[in-house]
Amino acid sequence: MSERKVLNKYYPPDFDPAKIPKLKLPKDRQYVVRLMAPFNMRCKTCGEYIYKGKKFNARKETVQNEIYLGLPIFRFYIKCTRCLAEITFKTDPENTDYAMEHGATRNFQAEKLLDEEEKRLQKEREEEELNNPMKVLENRTKDSKLEMEILENLQELKELNQRQANVDFEAMLKQYKELEEEQRRREQEMKAMLEQAQNRRILVDSDSDEEPAKPHLNPTAQTKPTDILQEDPQPQSKKRQTCHSLHKLCTREILQETAVNTVHCLDVSIHVWFQYHQDGT
Ligand SMILES: [Zn+2]
Repeated sequence: MSERKVLNKYYPPDFDPAKIPKLKLPKDRQYVVRLMAPFNMRCKTCGEYIYKGKKFNARKETVQNEIYLGLPIFRFYIKCTRCLAEITFKTDPENTDYAMEHGATRNFQAEKLLDEEEKRLQKEREEEELNNPMKVLENRTKDSKLEMEILENLQELKELNQRQANVDFEAMLKQYKELEEEQRRREQEMKAMLEQAQNRRILVDSDSDEEPAKPHLNPTAQTKPTDILQEDPQPQSKKRQTCHSLHKLCTREILQETAVNTVHCLDVSIHVWFQYHQDGT
C-alpha cells in the first residue's frame, strides 16, 4: 500500500533539469474565454445592437508590442449575434475601461467623448500658456469678456421674461378678497335665517302650549342630545315639551312607550331618545 503514494522521488546523480525538452507555445496564443460585452455596441456589418452584459465565448490574446505601465493589454474577439462578423475590442487600463477596436461602434458615450474633448482643450491651452505670458494675458481677457457676455445675456433673458409674464398681483389679491368677503356675507345671512326660523318655531310652540319657552330649553344651548337624559328629574314635564317644541311631529300620539319608560321620538330626522313621564301630562 505504501508504494501507491510515493512522496520521495529518486533523482539519479546525472540528472540535469535543463536537458528536459520544453513545450513550445507561441507567445500570441489565443485562449477561449467566456465573457460579457463590456459596453453597448452596434455591429458595423449588419447594424445589430449588442448590449452590455451579453455573454460570448470569445478568443483572448495578448496584444503584442503594446503595454501600459508594465501591464499587458488583451484583445478579445467576439462574433456578432446576427451576422457572425468578427468584432474585436481591447482592454484599456489607462482609462480602466475597454476600447472598441474593429467591427462595431460603441454606443452611449456622448458624455465620455465630451469629457475627453474638454480635457484635450484644457491640456492644449495649458501647454500653450506654459512659456508664453502674453498668451496667458490674452486668454484671461478673453475669459472675462466671455463671462461679461454671458451675464448680459442672462440679464436680457430675465427682462424678457418679466415683460412677458405681466401678472397684476394686486388685482388678483383684491379679487380673492372680494370673493372671500362675499362668501362670509352669505354664511352670515344663512345663519341669521336659521336663527329666525328657530325662534319662530319656538314661539309658535309656546303659544300652543300656553307656556313660554324656557331659555335653557333652547336646542342650540344643548350641545349633546343626551344632555336631556342626564338632567335632574325635577323638570321632566318640561322635557317632554322640549321634544314637542323641537319638532312638531313628536306629539303624544306618536311617542311610544317601552318597558324602560323611555320613548323614542319617531321623527326620523332627529334620532333622539327622550325620557317620557306619564304623570307629566
Ligand atoms: Zn452583425
